[in-house]
Amino acid sequence: MAVLPIVTYPDPRLTTPCAPAVLDDTTRALAADMLETMYAAPGRGLAAPQVGVLIRLFVMDTGWKDGTPAPRVMVNPQIVRQGADVAPMAEGCLSIPGITAVVTRPTDITLRWTDLDGTVQEQDLTGIEAICAQHEQDHLDGILTLDRLDPVARAQALAELA
Ligand code: ZN
Repeated sequence: MAVLPIVTYPDPRLTTPCAPAVLDDTTRALAADMLETMYAAPGRGLAAPQVGVLIRLFVMDTGWKDGTPAPRVMVNPQIVRQGADVAPMAEGCLSIPGITAVVTRPTDITLRWTDLDGTVQEQDLTGIEAICAQHEQDHLDGILTLDRLDPVARAQALAELA
């Protein structure tokens, strides 16, 4: 396993939609490296394009900072349901260091993905897990938190970055 360099804004790989992932040993090794990279950063989620690999794969673990690690690897994830309730939450991004963006998203979703054994999984996610999964899913479509802001907030965030 290895800690990989994290791609940062405005690298064009962060705004490029990703291709479907093939579940093979290369992808499994990448997922292991991504988990190590996420924990080292430290972060709660990391998508493959953030380490420069443009495939539909992300890892997340929303509980480890509170002492209950539960690493998850999502291969070819899809949001198959979004709840009607939305809420704003301050989101950081390892690829946009120093910037916190308040993004409004659905508070519960259903995520479908393939696990590393090739089994299709489906689960309802709420709270920080739902937010994190949507943030990482956005990365696979080349969408950043900055793109979810209104023009004023976006200009403010870009000014902070500069
Ligand atoms: Zn991010």
